[in-house]
Amino acid sequence: MLCSHMKIRVRPKTAESTRNTCESTLYLFFMFATPFILYLCICSLSMSSSWASSASKADAETLRRKRINTSKLYLHVIPSKVPIIYSSYYDISFLGIEKLHPFDSSKWGRVCRFLISEGHLQKNSIVEPQEASRDDLLVVHTEAYLNSLKSSMNVAMIAEVPPIAILPNFLVQMKVLSPFRKQVGGTILAAKLAKDRGWAINVGGGFHHCSSGRGGGFCAYADISLCIHFAFVRLNISRVMIIDLDAHQGNGHETDFANDGRVYILDMYNPEIYPFDMEARSYITQKVEIVSGTTTEKYLKELDKALEEARRNFAPELIVYNAGTDILDGDPLGGLKVMPDGVVQRDEKVFRFARERNIPLVMVTSGGYMKSSARVIADSIINLSRKGLIDITSHQRRR
Ligand SMILES: [Zn+2]
Repeated sequence: MLCSHMKIRVRPKTAESTRNTCESTLYLFFMFATPFILYLCICSLSMSSSWASSASKADAETLRRKRINTSKLYLHVIPSKVPIIYSSYYDISFLGIEKLHPFDSSKWGRVCRFLISEGHLQKNSIVEPQEASRDDLLVVHTEAYLNSLKSSMNVAMIAEVPPIAILPNFLVQMKVLSPFRKQVGGTILAAKLAKDRGWAINVGGGFHHCSSGRGGGFCAYADISLCIHFAFVRLNISRVMIIDLDAHQGNGHETDFANDGRVYILDMYNPEIYPFDMEARSYITQKVEIVSGTTTEKYLKELDKALEEARRNFAPELIVYNAGTDILDGDPLGGLKVMPDGVVQRDEKVFRFARERNIPLVMVTSGGYMKSSARVIADSIINLSRKGLIDITSHQRRR
């Protein structure tokens, strides 16, 4: 037999060959198993990071609810008060720096003085809000953003008043940021009053360029976003419509409520002026662009069409109306040519829109950069009262 002639040498199993066999087996095992082990590691890492991220989201939401529920801003308002909110602390006046911005920073006080001196409103029937605390602001804002306001330079850029940069920050907090925080308290409280009374007007607020992590365009705090988050939790509201009719695009609340189905944003703005925020524009639910030079008739026609479309699209439980008066003809920043009577008619249309569907409405006064703005806002409030859309007298008789 062939085999018999062949000398097959079977090598005796030495320690070395045994080690080689083991190494080969281990090599093969790792070669085939490594991708599988890697896959398992990646899966488990991504699952644990997604659990961690949903856990941290849940923690953040719990903290937000806790902050809202323990806030003092939803103060009790006695029935004899009218849901018009204002405090003399709103008005910014300090060493003349307020004159360095085209913004009339005593506009809010002048609106009330017109209404009181002409007998439409009694001084003691106005609601005085509380100033928003750091905890209140953290409902929307990041720690990093609030800390950035400890730099006077940063506040100077947001307020667009360069000399603020050289002031000690404690003065900036006291004279600039504290009035803003008081107005924020007013906007937040307005939602509670609107739910109780059907409407509320904060004679300040409307800082629609500020989002959770960024201020700008004279807006240091995101009062509209804060107002809506408080309403979600404390008023059990889940569908809000923002009607933003300031001349500028409301990029702050648009960024904060990007892709949030609970908030419908109708924004009518001039696309040729600040802030040119293209990303925020993509978050507007209903965009109406009004070019420079648009006159009263055309503006009101566009508004009618827009409100009709909004009516068909969304059924809100609360409306936040950002009623900037910088659409007025002659405003140095708005670029539009709407006459004072056009602003009065605009406000009437929005209040009628809410009243016809029995939706609580919060109005904030937002931008408006001429001395005449205060007069126009006061005239508009008087008109709303005359048309029976708001009641600023009957509450006073109840006292
Ligand atoms: Zn504006």
